[in-house]
Amino acid sequence: MAIYDLHSHTTHSDGTLSPLELVTRAKSCGVDVLALTDHDGTFGLQEGVDAARSVGIRFVPGVEISVTWGAQTVHIVGLGIDWLNEKLRAGLAEMQIKRVERAKQLGRKLETNGIPNALERVKAIAGLEAPTRTHFGRFLVDNGYARDLQDSFNKWLGKKGKAYVRGDWATLVEAVTWITAAGGQAVIAHPGRYQYTLTKLRCMIEEFIECGGAGLEVVSSSHSPQMVGDMSALAKHYALLASVGSDFHSPGNPRVELGRNLTLPANLTPIWSTW
Ligand code: AMP
Ligand code: MN
Ligand code: MN
Ligand code: MN
Repeated sequence: MAIYDLHSHTTHSDGTLSPLELVTRAKSCGVDVLALTDHDGTFGLQEGVDAARSVGIRFVPGVEISVTWGAQTVHIVGLGIDWLNEKLRAGLAEMQIKRVERAKQLGRKLETNGIPNALERVKAIAGLEAPTRTHFGRFLVDNGYARDLQDSFNKWLGKKGKAYVRGDWATLVEAVTWITAAGGQAVIAHPGRYQYTLTKLRCMIEEFIECGGAGLEVVSSSHSPQMVGDMSALAKHYALLASVGSDFHSPGNPRVELGRNLTLPANLTPIWSTW
């Protein structure tokens, strides 16, 4: 059986590998089909396509769009997108502006808390105009303000952190519409991770389907076996296509590796069965 991994990141968002390094690693991990899904941008996709051709692996161009729904951030993955599509490009351009603004606010909050020039220093490490919270986290760890990435979210960047900035991202309908306009399939990323009640999660799924959403990421490295079971039941109930993804960001965490432990429960319809 072919190994699919339909959720991963590169240095074009908060991953630490370039598209070529990512694709090469995926190949050596035995992945047959890899989707690159950087946060709110498609900057690495052409490089990914070229790299995949040279390495000999099937490549699915993707994106992971940040959405605000029910006072929380939800991630919607788009698979098989035409990243030159005007509607998608315009939407993602707005997202980049929001990200730059959020990074500025975050930088200011860190300065208020005694960390000078935070944004400039983070930008220098990230090499991006719109660094992600992961970049801020790595900066905080490297400079002794947090023990590790998790600690940087607990102390600074997460909901209870001193420098928390509430995201004001796309709406659910916007994200799904941009993806489908670009010929892609919209998938709710790591649904087990959101702190919604089951009622609220169902409500979000129903709205997602209404706006044209296609799939649920049933298997993810953020999911416990119990969550995989719960998400399988939801995928079945709503007749959603099932997706799988490691959400790989960087080497070094044996729990999160490209293509590892991504077997889909047998009674579901894999999203790739429609390709
Ligand atoms: P952003 O989209 O800039 O708000 O950054 C979100 C990213 O931060 C996610 O995609 C994860 O990669 C990372 N992240 C979120 N929460 C945590 C956490 N508690 N520990 C480590 N990384 C996290
Ligand atoms: Mn990330
Ligand atoms: Mn995500
Ligand atoms: Mn991700």
